[in-house]
Amino acid sequence: MASGRRMSRQMEAMADSAAPAVAEPPPATKPRAPRARMMRQYDLVERVRSYNPDTDEDMLNRAYVYAMKAHGEQTRASGDPYFSHPLEVAAILTNLKLDDATIVAALLHDTIEDTEATRTEIDKLFGHEIGALVEGLTKLKRLELVSREAKQAENLRKLLLAIANDVRVLLIKLADRLHNMRTLDFVPPASRQRIAEETLDIYAPLAGRMGMQEMREELEDLSFRTLDPEAFAVVMQRLDALAERNRNLIGEIETQLSANLAKNGLTAEVTGRRKRPFSIWTKMERKSVGFEQLSDIYGFRVVLDDVPSCYRALGVVHTTWPMVPGRFKDYISTPKQNDYRSLHTTVIGPGQQRVELQFRTHDMNQIAEYGIAAHAFYKDGAGSPTELLNRESNAFAWLRHTIEMLSEAQNPEEFLEHTKLELFHDQVFCFTPKGKLIALPRAANVIDFAYAVHTDVGNSAVGCKINGKFAPLSSELQNGDEVEVLTSSVQSAPPAAWESLARTGKARAAIRRATRAAMRDQYAGLGRRIVERLFARAKIDYADDKLKGALPRLARASIEDVMASVGRGEMKASDVARAMYPDYKEERTARFGGKKPEKPGIKPTPEAGKVGPAVPIGGIHSGLPVKFAPNGGAVPGDRIVGIVSPGEGITIYPIHSPALKEFEEEPERWLDVKWDIDETTPQRFPARLFVQNVNEPGSLAQIASVIAEHDGNIDNINMSRRSPDFTELTIDLEVYDLKHLSAIIAQLRAKAVVAHVERVNG
Ligand code: MN
Repeated sequence: MASGRRMSRQMEAMADSAAPAVAEPPPATKPRAPRARMMRQYDLVERVRSYNPDTDEDMLNRAYVYAMKAHGEQTRASGDPYFSHPLEVAAILTNLKLDDATIVAALLHDTIEDTEATRTEIDKLFGHEIGALVEGLTKLKRLELVSREAKQAENLRKLLLAIANDVRVLLIKLADRLHNMRTLDFVPPASRQRIAEETLDIYAPLAGRMGMQEMREELEDLSFRTLDPEAFAVVMQRLDALAERNRNLIGEIETQLSANLAKNGLTAEVTGRRKRPFSIWTKMERKSVGFEQLSDIYGFRVVLDDVPSCYRALGVVHTTWPMVPGRFKDYISTPKQNDYRSLHTTVIGPGQQRVELQFRTHDMNQIAEYGIAAHAFYKDGAGSPTELLNRESNAFAWLRHTIEMLSEAQNPEEFLEHTKLELFHDQVFCFTPKGKLIALPRAANVIDFAYAVHTDVGNSAVGCKINGKFAPLSSELQNGDEVEVLTSSVQSAPPAAWESLARTGKARAAIRRATRAAMRDQYAGLGRRIVERLFARAKIDYADDKLKGALPRLARASIEDVMASVGRGEMKASDVARAMYPDYKEERTARFGGKKPEKPGIKPTPEAGKVGPAVPIGGIHSGLPVKFAPNGGAVPGDRIVGIVSPGEGITIYPIHSPALKEFEEEPERWLDVKWDIDETTPQRFPARLFVQNVNEPGSLAQIASVIAEHDGNIDNINMSRRSPDFTELTIDLEVYDLKHLSAIIAQLRAKAVVAHVERVNG
């Protein structure tokens, strides 16, 4: 919007010219009638009937009465009964000749939000179609409660389009805004300013891009008048003076030009208009020129049949009025980048008034109106509709096309019934508590949102509130949600499992980076412990400074690098000691963690010992070798933990495994991990069962066949003890997951020969 600073320069420029620059109280754009009596029920029905003889009068009447009763004693800021507002909104829409459902929905548009009315009741009384329209408007109205940043305007327009799944919702919304702008003077100054800014940033451009130029201009001028009353007054005054001087200039030129063209055998559509205050003002601002220097206060468009006619029409104009040198542009032989084509010229018309003219063919006019998308819309098979609509300019072009069709449709009801807006349905738009709008791909969740706000917010996110209610971070977001991310300074890195939850590349990459860094820290911490232990045992002093001096010998860039290398098992603690104290002698192999785990007495699972990606565990840097607990394994469905062993990688244990006791004193070796597996993956995992069975012939075969029948793979069976009555077996098998294992256990228990079954956890 025009700022006060820049305005004063413009005012000066104007003051130079002849006309007195006295600021009068700002007149309205259109002379407004003194507060008119409220429209009657009968007037509204008449208006609709004038363009739609088949209108459902009964429904219009019922809606009128229903809305009037619902709003009851409510009043507007002006003191008028509130009901006058929906009624005027409906009246604006009759000018657009809209269908009954739209008019009725306009009458009801504020009832759900502001009165006792409910969607159910409206559905019952007026049908589902109207109920859906009113609800759509209610949703849009709720969005207005969130504060906004002007630079987010484009996203907000997209959000409006994404939420409004019926073009009529947008039309009613625009009419609603127009009436509110027309009655803005009654609103307190602070909200007046906000509403006018919002109108200028969001609704006026929306109307324009939907092809409703008149609506756009009125919204712009009303906003302009509120936001910069002095500038508005000055422009209006100059325009009025000009109008006084050039009475009927537009009509004169239109007639004269059409006649001249016809005389030369040219058929043309000539339309002229005077620019509106807001567009004149923005042009003065943009070009830093005074009012008198503007050449395009009067503009004419001449649409012709073909290209030669355009040049001939230009010739006719140049022989009728003197051309202004330097203003002729040939965008037909040299189209603009965006494919725009036209001839432009400026002439000194009647009354010495500069007049701008554009000549173009019908095809060129289409492209000027709809942009490049015009090609696609008028060609068959030019891409899927969704693909077309996903591009913003196309989405708006499509909307304009729809509205144009609407105004031409013989039967608007039928047309509208088959017109569903599916704009920006692949995106979802959410607000931060401060009103910043974040656009995300559809199906994104709070983790994506947090990373979209800031990487630090993502990394330290521990919870969230959606529309004021606590929700899991994995919650899928809906359009218009207000999302508050709760962070904790304690959490410096996100759980690695988030990487598979996030939907956006940005979040995934950030999570990967953060977990990798956290992993490195973990290894470095582990390495430091190992080094310190070795030094303590060897009774030598450790100091960072001394290690720093030894870095070149260890071929590492930093102390952290050395520690991480030790933690990862790439370097021995004794190498570090030797680098710092060349005469250090290793007394015995100092392997951290004591004995090496025994080689399990089972056939290794296909995954065991293999490198990362084959093992479906989230939260592990892919370069590390991963294996399963040697005595009992782990299967998807188990809650699991990873234990880091330097030089050996990571071993996955079920969280309830007694073997974990061994590592209790070394929290730095524990790693949060999570299964990262699709239920349908036909991958098997190792588990161990302890079975006690009754000694009778064939009992072992029975047990084996139960397991086989239920698709379990037996790797190994150990008979551990045999008494006269029972045999104890340890069975290593491979199953898909915990559910599968539990099913096998249940089937074994059901066998008479089986006395006892339990799972063994390493
Ligand atoms: Mn309203």
